[in-house]
Amino acid sequence: MTDTDQPTSSVTSQYKKECPLCSSQTVQFFCKDRRREYLRCSSCSLIFVPAPLHLTIDEQKSRYDLHRNDSEDPGYRAFLSRLVDPLVERLAPGARGLDFGSGPGPTLSLLLEERGFSVQNYDPFYAPDSTLLKKRYDFVACSETVEHFCAPATDWQLLFSLVGTGGVAAVMTAFVPAESEERAGSFAGWRYKDDPTHVTFYSKETFFWIAEKFGVKAEIVGESVVLFSF
Ligand SMILES: [Zn+2]
Ligand SMILES: [Zn+2]
Repeated sequence: MTDTDQPTSSVTSQYKKECPLCSSQTVQFFCKDRRREYLRCSSCSLIFVPAPLHLTIDEQKSRYDLHRNDSEDPGYRAFLSRLVDPLVERLAPGARGLDFGSGPGPTLSLLLEERGFSVQNYDPFYAPDSTLLKKRYDFVACSETVEHFCAPATDWQLLFSLVGTGGVAAVMTAFVPAESEERAGSFAGWRYKDDPTHVTFYSKETFFWIAEKFGVKAEIVGESVVLFSF
C-alpha cells in the first residue's frame, strides 16, 4: 500500500461528510444499493445521496418528462387531497398561493382553484418564471418536490422566502419509515428511494429541525404531509 492508497471498507463512505441541510459534519454511512449510497446526518436526521451520485440536470429533465401526472385522474387527485384538504382548512377566503415544483402536468393549482383559491405555478423545468420567486404568498403548496432538492439548505430557504407573515407552507413527500432511524433494513427495501431523482429523504425529526432553524411551527399530518406556519 502506497501513501496515496485509500483504505477501503464496506461501511465507510468515500464521500464528503458534510450535511447538505444543516452543514454538520456528523454524517455517517447509512446504506448502499446497486446504484447509490446513502448517508445520514445525526444532527438533523436527513438521509441523502452524496452530490457526485446525483443525476445531471439533463438526466433529471428526461426522467421528469416521463412523469404522467394527469389532472383528470381520480387516483392522482385523491393522492393530492392528502395535501390539499389540511391546507385548505388553514386558508382564509381568497388566499393566494404558489405551487412550488408544479411539474409537467400542474394539478395542485387546479384542485385549489376548484376550492376558490388562486394559485400560480412555478417549476424550474416546466414553468421557470423566476419573477414568481421574488414575491410572497399567503400559502405555498409543494408536492413531491423536496425529495428532489439537490442543495437542501438553499432550496428550503428559497421555499420559505415565498411565504408571507401568517402564511403557511404545505409540503408533501414520503417520510422515511420510522423504524429505519437506527436500522438500515427497512430503508433498504423502501421503493421511494429507488427513484434516481430522489436525493433527500426526511423524517419527522428533520422537519422539526427545519422549523426550528427558520423560526416557524411544524405540524405533521399523517405519514407524508407537513404544514409549516409562519
Ligand atoms: Zn444535517
Ligand atoms: Zn419525487
